[in-house]
Amino acid sequence: MASGTFVTAVNCMDGRVQIPVIDYLKKKYGVDYVDMVTEPGPIKFVAENTDTAVVESIMSRVGISVNKHGSKTVAFIGHDDCAGNPVDRQTQEQQVRDCISRAKSWGFDIELIGLYVNKNWEVEPVE
Ligand SMILES: [Zn+2]
Repeated sequence: MASGTFVTAVNCMDGRVQIPVIDYLKKKYGVDYVDMVTEPGPIKFVAENTDTAVVESIMSRVGISVNKHGSKTVAFIGHDDCAGNPVDRQTQEQQVRDCISRAKSWGFDIELIGLYVNKNWEVEPVE
């Protein structure tokens, strides 16, 4: 097992949302590191589950973070002005909830949470 503590973020590739998400998760969970699993608009892929190659790639990378780094928490994250997933906040929040439902079937012993990065690049929980 790697030294240090980790959580996992399924986050957009967008450069604007990397540091806000890392800072938020490190502070909230008191961990040393945040493993980033990125795609353009990853929540769209996982929520819709039509491009199974991408979804399996995301799942596989989450598995490395969980099994090799001991992550106990995986966050699915949407954000404002997403080029890969250009839909409104309400739609993205539903995608995040759908991701959490789907990821329960992945079989990892983890907490699943949802986040949204707003237009001021602040991170907010998705209920
Ligand atoms: Zn994006």
